[in-house]
Amino acid sequence: MLRARAPDLSDGGIDPYSTGENGIHEDPAVHNDLTRLGWDTAFEEAFTPHAAEGLLPGRIVLEHTHIYRVAMAGGEVLGRVSGRLRHDAASRADFPTVGDWVAMAPAPHTGDARILAVLPRRSRFSRRAAGDPTEEQVVAANIDTVFLVGGLDGDFNPRRIERYLLVARDSGAAPVIVLNKADLVEAPEAMAASVRALAGTVPVHVVSCRDAASLAVLREYLSPGRTGALLGSSGVGKSTIVNRLLGHDLLRTQDVRESDSRGRHTSTARQLVPLPGGGVLIDTPGMRELQLWETGEALAGAFEDIEGIADACRFRDCRHQQEPGCAVRAAVAAGALAAGRLESYLKLQAEQAHQARQVDQRAQLDEKRRTKAATRALQKRLNEKDRH
Ligand code: GDP
Ligand code: ZN
Repeated sequence: MLRARAPDLSDGGIDPYSTGENGIHEDPAVHNDLTRLGWDTAFEEAFTPHAAEGLLPGRIVLEHTHIYRVAMAGGEVLGRVSGRLRHDAASRADFPTVGDWVAMAPAPHTGDARILAVLPRRSRFSRRAAGDPTEEQVVAANIDTVFLVGGLDGDFNPRRIERYLLVARDSGAAPVIVLNKADLVEAPEAMAASVRALAGTVPVHVVSCRDAASLAVLREYLSPGRTGALLGSSGVGKSTIVNRLLGHDLLRTQDVRESDSRGRHTSTARQLVPLPGGGVLIDTPGMRELQLWETGEALAGAFEDIEGIADACRFRDCRHQQEPGCAVRAAVAAGALAAGRLESYLKLQAEQAHQARQVDQRAQLDEKRRTKAATRALQKRLNEKDRH
């Protein structure tokens, strides 16, 4: 039973587990069935070279600042990124995150196990790193289904769901739209219709946490070995849905609080939680605060209607603002295209352009720094030569 190991982090300590001498925490009561956690033949294949090195597979279930909790067949261990992985990492995105399958080696003596490699991700959710908006930070990986949760109550906002759809399309996870709080409105299905209009082939489910039976449909996406996650604004009912799926209020009490070096308290919990029915749910603060990160291809895919109309614009680089002969504005004027839809499209484009500029500036700065360093090194060598 996976559930036997609900990590007790309620004491607020960073390391509630003591690790054994070789860094692998042995607990005979725990035996993880990796297939229930999502391990399959494709991952096994990707793991072949690591298996040849004698490494073992594990899945990241929690990320602390520099230490990870990893579910392995023999139980959970605490692991640190190896020097090799650190050295090979081209960017922050190459470091492990919750949901990643990793290659583990026990530490030779005392200490924590080591994470030597991250398997290629099937899907990933990223955001701009705190403190550096141009750096990608992966907040969760290998999610099969992402539930895009919206509330049908006062905050009902199809445009926001549209934005989350973009994020989902970019991630590689299959989106499912969940319209919650059906009990609070008169005609939930009529409201759902407006969402279905923009959802295309993405399933839309109307649910209420007050009606347990309505949530049963979500379990169908979370069969053994499947990984799900919830995305949506604060207050739409994500925590309540997670707790209903778990059958008890585990999740909210698991947040790990730890002090950083400045003594501030930051919640750094990362979580992958096994469900009674067999699947797993990922719920991380990062997922909850997700911002758009490079919606490039997704932007085009999600606005095919507008791009189609834009083919008829007089100018090929028409921005559909004040340009003469703009077919898109004409379509809005004729009532063939919703003004709100064009508005979301333009807003997202502006956001993307802004971000692209930031990434660009960063690249230029890096280049400058590299050139300066190289010049200094050369100067030093020349000076040394002079002295000899
Ligand atoms: P989160 O911020 O998305 O995690 O939202 P919560 O799960 O904390 O829910 C916010 C509030 O909405 C809480 O007071 C819940 O009890 C309430 N809530 C959640 N789902 C429903 C629902 O289906 N119907 C009603 N009436 N209230 C709900
Ligand atoms: Zn145009």
